[in-house]
Amino acid sequence: MQCRGSGWSPNFGSLSPSPLTGQPWAVYILRKWDFGKYYVSNFSRDLLSKIWSDPLFSVQDLNAPLYRKVKALNQVRLLRIQLFHLKNMFKTCRLAKELLDSFDTVPGHLTEDLHLYSLNDLTATKKGELAPCLLELLKAGTLHVERCMLCQAKGFICEFCQKEDDVIFPFELNKCRTCEECKACYHKCCFKSGCCPRCERLQARRELLARQSMESYLSDYEDEAPQEVAAAT
Ligand SMILES: [Zn+2]
Ligand SMILES: [Zn+2]
Ligand SMILES: [Zn+2]
Repeated sequence: MQCRGSGWSPNFGSLSPSPLTGQPWAVYILRKWDFGKYYVSNFSRDLLSKIWSDPLFSVQDLNAPLYRKVKALNQVRLLRIQLFHLKNMFKTCRLAKELLDSFDTVPGHLTEDLHLYSLNDLTATKKGELAPCLLELLKAGTLHVERCMLCQAKGFICEFCQKEDDVIFPFELNKCRTCEECKACYHKCCFKSGCCPRCERLQARRELLARQSMESYLSDYEDEAPQEVAAAT
């Protein structure tokens, strides 16, 4: 399995001439998940080689429905989200340094900029070569979290059911749902209402603070008011 360094090299060998000369190849991939046999001119060939590993294409922005249509791409998407959460945990775990290094065996954007893809990534996804690499990292990461005291301490107790013996983590996508606002983590089955208790608490606190500062402003004003009157007379 090729997971290391800049990854896979471009292989245009399978491309043969067609009437679509000169059309940008990437457009076909992103529009229709079509890696077809289009003729690539020497100029485009050079360009493609140059940008081959650059994360230039946001599937989310360019064609988000592709995630739904292409199973392999969706699988990669889900793996990347999980690795993103794991990587964030490992950045602050002093026992995960080696593991964090192993995450660097795949290009950084794969675990950081979740929707960006290079042509290399897209091709590797199509060939079914990217998901196994990411899965390998996910397995190693999950195992670390299970065994690491420091990482266990970063887990959440679901506030809805309060099951203290079930520590949950944002990377457990099958089981958990993370609030997009405050990043708190709950069981998927508990967090159905769409109302996040932590967000509600934060909101109540903000309103209380706003009320208190308004009240103290008003009472300052009342304290000062008679003096102003006195000064005026
Ligand atoms: Zn750890
Ligand atoms: Zn729960
Ligand atoms: Zn929240």
